Amino acid sequence: MFELKVEMHFAAAHQLKMVAKKCENLHGHNWKIEVCVAGEKVGDNGVLIDFGILKEHISEIIKKLDHRFLNELSFFHDENQPSSENIAKFIATELEASLNNPSIRVSRVTAWESDFACATYII
Ligand SMILES: [Zn+2]
Repeated sequence: MFELKVEMHFAAAHQLKMVAKKCENLHGHNWKIEVCVAGEKVGDNGVLIDFGILKEHISEIIKKLDHRFLNELSFFHDENQPSSENIAKFIATELEASLNNPSIRVSRVTAWESDFACATYII
């Protein structure tokens, strides 16, 4: 099994209801996103997927989040608030569909909302 990891960043605002008091106020983060994809074997070129191609797929997803007020996006709503947990899930779900490659799967996505706190969605 091989696993590749790439890191990307975006900045956005969100507001979380019914979490800790200070998260209920509108605020922003510079999120660091770690995406891991895994597969059993590499191609004839020796790679699971070209890092550049993988980053292009992730960039298209990140564009939907970057410099946005996340609560306004259709994916997020009261039952699926734009927490780091749900941001990680959103990226994982979108990437799985975007890659559409049976030999590569998204194994985990981690969303760091600060240097000290992150949430990981494991498929
Ligand atoms: Zn926050």
